[in-house]
Amino acid sequence: MRTAIIYHPDCRKHKMVADHPECSERLDAIQDRLLASGLDIAVPQIMTSKASEEDILRVHKQAHLDLVKSKIPETGLADLDGDTWLCKDTFKAAERAAGSGVFAVKQVLAGQLDAAFCAVRPPGHHATEDTSSGFCIFNNTAIAVKYAQEQGIERIAILDIDVHHGNGTQDIFEHDDNVLFCSIFQHPFYPNTAIDSTKTIINTPLTAGMGGDDFKRAIIGSWLPAIKRFKPQLIFISAGFDGHLEDDMGGLTLVEADYAWFTDKIVKLSKSLECKGIISMLEGGYDLSSLGRSVTTHLKSLAEV
Ligand SMILES: [Zn+2]
Repeated sequence: MRTAIIYHPDCRKHKMVADHPECSERLDAIQDRLLASGLDIAVPQIMTSKASEEDILRVHKQAHLDLVKSKIPETGLADLDGDTWLCKDTFKAAERAAGSGVFAVKQVLAGQLDAAFCAVRPPGHHATEDTSSGFCIFNNTAIAVKYAQEQGIERIAILDIDVHHGNGTQDIFEHDDNVLFCSIFQHPFYPNTAIDSTKTIINTPLTAGMGGDDFKRAIIGSWLPAIKRFKPQLIFISAGFDGHLEDDMGGLTLVEADYAWFTDKIVKLSKSLECKGIISMLEGGYDLSSLGRSVTTHLKSLAEV
């Protein structure tokens, strides 16, 4: 698959309180591992454009956008919601993170790419149309999905593999039958939101301590049949790697091989369904070493190298 990494240096400029796990070193760890693996040669890196206000407002209320802008401090840090902080450069990072998925959709629909991995921050899947939370300011994946819908893509699947439930994304699309939202996550756990499944929402809770075998069983048992039935024209992955064994943020015990297995399955399925492409957006993943290794493994499978 013609695959690219979508990034922007401004995503490194977003700072939160000292020693916060959602830090710019996460992007450095990914980049270091890509270089060490040689994948930086096989997979091109493309700098993303910004999300426009129009892009952001397809998902978020004007009041939310205005609140974020009004709270950006001139110096130091401002507390947005208790666990997400803003610095003077946060909006620049958020515009690029929100723009990266839109940029990737444009590349895929123009026939330039089959797959993209957006190595951006802040993450997005906890943000609803009018709230930030859990280190997320704008819902980057939802913004890209809404853009794709506006371009005439009728059926879109969002596959969320972060250790936390993708509550923001679910909230945005729960009444949209043209979006299939699948989320596999540790439960009970943050964000402790409703996890009922419907025809187009498939929530797959795993208990702390579960790992690859349970993950694979759930994906094979419920996700793959649902995706085959739904026949998405575009697939998004909310790619959080905080379910890794070495990541203390959660209590699942996934390893790189599980992320590779998952990605291989989705690549194969997307081809059999004649899907236009796969767009993967970085969400969580806070242990720097396992994050770098997991992203590299995920990308190798996406690019089939
Ligand atoms: Zn997470």
